[in-house]
Amino acid sequence: VIVGANGIGTPRLLLMSASERFQNGLANSSGLVGKRLMLHPHGSSAGIFDDDLEDWVGPAGEQLVSLQFYETDKSRGFVRGCKWILMCTGGPQQMVERWDKGEGTRDEPFWGTEFTRKMQDSIGHMMEWQIINEDLPEETNYVSLDPTLTDSDGLPAPKIHYRTSENTRLMLDFHLQRSLESLREAGAKKAWITRRRVSSGHNLGTCKMGNDPETSVVNRWGQAHDVPNLYLIDGSVFTTSTGVNPTATICALAKRTATYIADNARQLEVAS
Ligand SMILES: Cc1cc2nc3c(=O)[nH]c(=O)nc-3n(C[C@H](O)[C@H](O)[C@H](O)COP(=O)(O)OP(=O)(O)OC[C@H]3O[C@@H](n4cnc5c(N)ncnc54)[C@H](O)[C@@H]3O)c2cc1C
Repeated sequence: VIVGANGIGTPRLLLMSASERFQNGLANSSGLVGKRLMLHPHGSSAGIFDDDLEDWVGPAGEQLVSLQFYETDKSRGFVRGCKWILMCTGGPQQMVERWDKGEGTRDEPFWGTEFTRKMQDSIGHMMEWQIINEDLPEETNYVSLDPTLTDSDGLPAPKIHYRTSENTRLMLDFHLQRSLESLREAGAKKAWITRRRVSSGHNLGTCKMGNDPETSVVNRWGQAHDVPNLYLIDGSVFTTSTGVNPTATICALAKRTATYIADNARQLEVAS
């Protein structure tokens, strides 16, 4: 059985699969199923330039990436760091969000003639840094089963318990301030923080990989320590979140698990 229901769906399935034999949930003798949820809180900052940046040219995506402040420097007051991604900002709908929800700009006049001026000023003239934060694995951040809320099949919904840590908050703030500096140094006539979000859509760490069955859920092949014919192939197996987008690593681990299963198909133990 190979489960890839993402960092929230997978622990939910395992916790729902409690039985007389696995009273704490399937593959949960360590008690770590659902624990150590990491969400990569992220932020962004934008700058407006006089130059026509032609940011509509080419594919929308990561035009430039910086890991300059990625490694730990304790003098900053926190550990770990962030990946910066320089992105284009798109058309009017995207702009509305940047102006209307931005820090400082959300209180400025926005509609009427001001709207036209802001759009003319920013479309094709804006660059944005997206900042991905390395969230630390903390057992106080976790997924459990909701005691009352259910899905359309009457099955328990997942309940998310998550508080952005002091380390993550300080890290994001430091990086957003540096990103504003970089936009201004590059010649932006105006720069501001456009977003701070609790999650970037990356759900990681809730079924930790490791060698020791007492402190992890799956082994290095994504195989559950407690249930030899159960494999997990999503971001739930991450031990740390890193400060980068996770999907390439999820794919690499899934391929590694698939290769392991194929190579060992004849010897696979099947739990009775
Ligand atoms: C807005 C957004 C932007 C993103 N951008 C990036 C990016 O730029 N780069 C990057 O690396 N990553 C990005 N990600 C993260 C990326 O989408 C995930 O890392 C990736 O989809 C994980 O793949 P997965 O197969 O593990 O999980 P998923 O793609 O989530 O697939 C899991 C599947 O399991 C199904 N499922 C769950 N529970 C059950 C159940 N009980 N029964 C049946 N099916 C179930 C779900 O419906 C889903 O189809 C982004 C995510 C979001 C939300």
